[in-house]
Amino acid sequence: MQIVFIGPPGAGKGTQSVRLAEHLQVPHLSTGDMLREACRQKTAIGIQAAEAMGSGQLVSDELVEEVVFERLSQPDCRKGYILDGFPRTVPQADAFDRWLAKRGRPLSAALVLQVDQEELLERLSSRGRQDDDRETVAQRLRLYDQLTSPLLDYYRQHHILHGIDGSGSQDEVFGRIQKVVAELETMKPE
Ligand code: AMP
Repeated sequence: MQIVFIGPPGAGKGTQSVRLAEHLQVPHLSTGDMLREACRQKTAIGIQAAEAMGSGQLVSDELVEEVVFERLSQPDCRKGYILDGFPRTVPQADAFDRWLAKRGRPLSAALVLQVDQEELLERLSSRGRQDDDRETVAQRLRLYDQLTSPLLDYYRQHHILHGIDGSGSQDEVFGRIQKVVAELETMKPE
């Protein structure tokens, strides 16, 4: 299965997407991790991405797409993958769909973790990092909403968006994810 995982800061997206990848025995691909690694190794892409990343901006679509498509072309992705952090914008989603269409392997699903704003504020503010005061956190969540809602519309229009209730314990949330994925597997056996 080819799955895109979306979720706001503090919703447990990293943890749940890693767990899902282990469950499905497919690679977990975090674009943040891939780009940080490229920066560390000072590759051509890493050098170009470093400035945007250092100032909290998004890296250009072109660069991210290059990193992701190169990674997805590796043999271990043939059986599927979980993407964490890509696509982040509609142009990225569009470029991704065109790339997938050429290879005849469309996305199986876009999963979005949904957590109540108040609960996210509580969770993030209680992490205790200095910059995590309530207003900073609220601002991060607003930015996430602004950026992500067109992406969610995009996948909704393509009928592959599945909302997952992200409240409760990690096991409860993972149980809901497994249920959705099991339904998808019966619909589209691969
Ligand atoms: P993350 O670990 O997902 O928060 O990503 C860390 C940083 O990597 C972000 O702040 C961006 O600068 C960059 N990044 C990760 N994924 C993308 C993406 N899909 N598009 C643009 N920039 C990205």
